[in-house]
Amino acid sequence: MSEAVRTRPRGLPCRSWVEVDLSNLEFNLVSLRNFVGVPVMAVVKADAYGHGASRVGVAAAKAGCPMLAVVSMEEAVALQEALTDAGLDCQLLVLGTCDAYEYGLARELGIHVSVHGPESVESIAASAKRSRRDGVAGQPLMVHLKLDTGMHRLGAQVSQAESLVRSLLETESVELAGVWTHLAVADEPDDPFTLSQLACFEEAVSSLQTAAGGWPRQKRPLLHAANSAAAIAFPSARYDIVRAGIAIYGVKPSANFTLPSEIELRPVLSWKSRVVLTKPVEPGSRPSYGRTRAVESSQLAVVPVGYADGYLRSLSNVGEVLIRGRRCRIAGVVTMDHLIVECAPDVRPGDEVVLIGRQESEEITSEELACKAGTIAYEVLCRIGPRVARTYLPGSNRD
Ligand SMILES: *Cc1c(COP(=O)(O)O)cnc(C)c1O
Repeated sequence: MSEAVRTRPRGLPCRSWVEVDLSNLEFNLVSLRNFVGVPVMAVVKADAYGHGASRVGVAAAKAGCPMLAVVSMEEAVALQEALTDAGLDCQLLVLGTCDAYEYGLARELGIHVSVHGPESVESIAASAKRSRRDGVAGQPLMVHLKLDTGMHRLGAQVSQAESLVRSLLETESVELAGVWTHLAVADEPDDPFTLSQLACFEEAVSSLQTAAGGWPRQKRPLLHAANSAAAIAFPSARYDIVRAGIAIYGVKPSANFTLPSEIELRPVLSWKSRVVLTKPVEPGSRPSYGRTRAVESSQLAVVPVGYADGYLRSLSNVGEVLIRGRRCRIAGVVTMDHLIVECAPDVRPGDEVVLIGRQESEEITSEELACKAGTIAYEVLCRIGPRVARTYLPGSNRD
């Protein structure tokens, strides 16, 4: 019995499950590390893009990632517990915003945090005051100043960088552990905007350095800017470490992004289920709500996966699944708990269904589904919901 089934109420089987191949995750981490020539910070936010942050985080730490990134303190605390349980001590960085309470907790737990503007600095000052008042002597809070060089989402304005660093360094027990930025169009390598963002970042970093009278020798802040796409396509964006998410899961950053031949990535996640019911139909029948399409086949199969499991409803009539090594097209709209597919007459209840992944010589990738659904592979992966059990194929580190 698989681990996922054992931990379910009364050992009940799951209607569908994800298989996360940790040896492919390791393979991608090593591939990327070798290709980029600097360490990889594994981005495991959003439950590791649906793969399960605890297991992926532990596997990435064992595979040598010096740092893992999440979006919130909530994710960081949960991940730190998983790492501690595994006997590991890996640096964590929170990419998103924090309030004063969260900054205080980060100091206590030794979690690196980001600073996104004067509000962050004020919250840090408030949390430092509180720790002093409560007599919690602490380790310094490790902060990474995030600069907005053109993404216009999070990050401080470049014009404020110097004054922010000055205030940070005046705050007791704060250390500038990093300076970073985020790129808006790195997955479109021909767009010159990436190089202009990088130029802006470099100018800001060098003026910070000048203003600080040079970085303290042992404590030079870590510079980072690259997501997966930039890590692969822009050598000048690699700096001290790259923040890679999608690539470590074996998926290309966008449909028209070309991977260089020197780097291979292997998909980590498969999503599987089983046929629960088959039935003969007259060709021309119109299954599911709304009777949106007439089928050509004379047999239908019902798969216990729906949009409540995170299977995108926009795949209605266009998505395909694999059964007996063959592609079967979705018949009608995807419903909350089930989808219906057209299939050959030999398909039987109990047959394995692959929604994402390989079966015999066929493969359905998250990129293919994303393209058919008019979205990106990131969303296809992140949407896979909590009702879907995660199971793990171990990597070489027995994780
Ligand atoms: C999600 C995220 C990443 C990782 O992006 P990928 O395209 O998945 O590699 C890197 N940096 C930041 C700030 C992010 O939010």
